[in-house]
Amino acid sequence: MPLYRTRAVVLKTLNLSEKDKLVTFLSETHGKIKCVAKAARRLKSRFGASLEPMSYVSLIYFGREHQELYRLNQCDIIQSFQEVRENPDSFYTAVYFLELADHLVAEAHPEPEIFRLLVQSLNEAGKTVTPGTLCRLFELRIMSYAGYTPRLKKCIACNRQPQSRWVGFSYIHHGIVCEPCFGKEPVEIRIQSGTVEYLKKFLSLDLNHVHRLKVPQEVETEIESITHRLVLARLGRELKSYPFIRQMAEINSTY
Ligand SMILES: [Zn+2]
Repeated sequence: MPLYRTRAVVLKTLNLSEKDKLVTFLSETHGKIKCVAKAARRLKSRFGASLEPMSYVSLIYFGREHQELYRLNQCDIIQSFQEVRENPDSFYTAVYFLELADHLVAEAHPEPEIFRLLVQSLNEAGKTVTPGTLCRLFELRIMSYAGYTPRLKKCIACNRQPQSRWVGFSYIHHGIVCEPCFGKEPVEIRIQSGTVEYLKKFLSLDLNHVHRLKVPQEVETEIESITHRLVLARLGRELKSYPFIRQMAEINSTY
């Protein structure tokens, strides 16, 4: 049976029996994979703490190609993101990233860009004091890598660059609408044209610089109305971790 070696992030684990765990990884080379970790629930398991969700690991697994479940052979921690786990803000943000990756990546379908985005974003989550900005950027980028890049350069109705201060956004057509075209296309929301510039920046920015990015609160709220709606439109429902992120943001804005 072939043996596979790759780097991966642990997305989630499930107790399979009294001894075994089922672990879902986002791997660098094989997309999302599911492995059975034999005896991983034992106190002195050879996998140690490496199977904790969020861990960035180096793993060896085996099984026939294209099967649904593989067998985990070895798993070693590259990075545990302890600093992310210790702070509730960054912790829930990171859990949201794991959930999004789990829902948007298909099994055995390599997504190297999403893998890199996840690892870099987990790194940034430990540095940033504004997880909201990182969250918006992650939503926009992961949707874009999954094939849902919003059209931000030209109006989806007339194909011209908007000149006005306000532009509309159509969730149905995934793009901006200039003011003169407001009557022609369904416009669900109006945003400042400056916000569109931030969205474009989010798509091209080097992720290592996110923690230095300063986004005004009203702009971030407008960005969220675009990026989070894109996520909801694709998934059809809210992810479990999202209400926690909202609560943390509200607590932080009160104090
Ligand atoms: Zn137009």
